[in-house]
Amino acid sequence: MDFRLTAEQELFKQTVREFAEKHIAPRAREIDQKGAGIPDEIIRGMADLGIFGVTVPEEYGGAGVPGEELVYGMLVVHEIARAELSMSLPVYLLLVLGWAHLIAKHGTPELKREVLPRVAKGEWFLGIATTEPSGGSDLANIRTQGKRAGDTYILNGEKIYISGVNEAKQRGGGHVTLFKTAPELGNQGMTFAYVPLASPGITTAKLGMMGRNGLSTGIITYENVAVPAKYVLASENRGFYAAMEGFNAARVLVCAACTGGAERALELSSEYVKQRKLFNTPLAKFEGISFEIAEDYAQLEMIKTQILKTAWMIDRERAQPGSFARSEINANVAICKLIAPPLGVAITQHAMMYHGAMGYTTETPLEMLLRGLLSYVVGAEGGLNVMKIIIAREFIGDVAIPYK
Ligand SMILES: Cc1cc2nc3c(=O)[nH]c(=O)nc-3n(C[C@H](O)[C@H](O)[C@H](O)COP(=O)(O)OP(=O)(O)OC[C@H]3O[C@@H](n4cnc5c(N)ncnc54)[C@H](O)[C@@H]3O)c2cc1C
Repeated sequence: MDFRLTAEQELFKQTVREFAEKHIAPRAREIDQKGAGIPDEIIRGMADLGIFGVTVPEEYGGAGVPGEELVYGMLVVHEIARAELSMSLPVYLLLVLGWAHLIAKHGTPELKREVLPRVAKGEWFLGIATTEPSGGSDLANIRTQGKRAGDTYILNGEKIYISGVNEAKQRGGGHVTLFKTAPELGNQGMTFAYVPLASPGITTAKLGMMGRNGLSTGIITYENVAVPAKYVLASENRGFYAAMEGFNAARVLVCAACTGGAERALELSSEYVKQRKLFNTPLAKFEGISFEIAEDYAQLEMIKTQILKTAWMIDRERAQPGSFARSEINANVAICKLIAPPLGVAITQHAMMYHGAMGYTTETPLEMLLRGLLSYVVGAEGGLNVMKIIIAREFIGDVAIPYK
């Protein structure tokens, strides 16, 4: 057993940190305020470092280290999130890395050749479209249908709260999308496929969001959209399970984004309470403050270890199938997603409190970070109660599932 990163992982992490501190951190506020998306030069710089290719195999133009893809993904998302505190760029990155990771495993060779090299070069965006107006937590009841017609599926339906609708339109790429192909079979009648956003029959609309303003979120409507069968992941009617596998990787990366932001907030707290003097005393000397920072630091270190372990489990399972039961991975991922986003929010709120009124202004990046992190508390990549259901099922057993 070894809890240390390898020398290569450490070096990569350090390189990404230096790039992010120099080229990304100074532009976080601009990314949040302008709503004009992520600046091209930032995407290009990240692509030059190989960041978009860490979950893509070398034969498809990536830099993925076999058996370490998700650990590398987690490291880069954490580093980018430390720098880009609006959370727009970390979310952009984690979506691309997470869903490329699934395509690399379950995509057809044609799909991999078409999408992965462009994703690894930073050219295309890749996202996920499962949520519908009928409820994101209850995926078995989605309405979007894909009727088979020869070697295509004709898609009709609507997805909502989908990240990256504008980015996929402007940069190219699309979303891996869940739809019903045999509605009478419930979970076992769903198919998961890559759908280019430029497909004829797709319309989009942007929604106004509280945070993450450098990344669009919106609605995708499908009207008789022809999706070639070569874009299907896994196989017809196995889509629900492929999507769940993808969510595991994506959720680990979400949590890395939360810990990256929280770590920076904690550093800002520590710097501020050392220099802010009240009653002729630095705030850091008051235990009401230093103890809370100590508790936050302790909890952050614990969840970082849990996230690293979970990324390692997923990597190990891919390299050596059968290493872990699927339910064990599901539960470990759910533990990460249950704890990391609310902890990130709590640490950020504490940081705002230490800064007093200044913490409420746009002079610090804290309010922007709070808005970004809250997306993962309200539901993005899975509601917190859904995580509790997954953990309860693992620990108590199927009797803990509140529905059939
Ligand atoms: C900023 C943002 C970006 C997003 N991006 C995407 C995206 O790119 N692609 C995509 O597909 N979706 C996206 N989503 C949607 C996200 O996946 C959903 O918000 C999530 O799945 C929850 O679905 P819902 O919002 O419809 O809430 P609901 O499913 O209606 O749930 C409402 C609340 O009920 C709780 N709940 C659910 N079931 C139970 C239960 N059995 N017992 C107790 N409580 C329960 C949930 O935890 C939640 O708090 C995004 C959301 C946000 C906020």
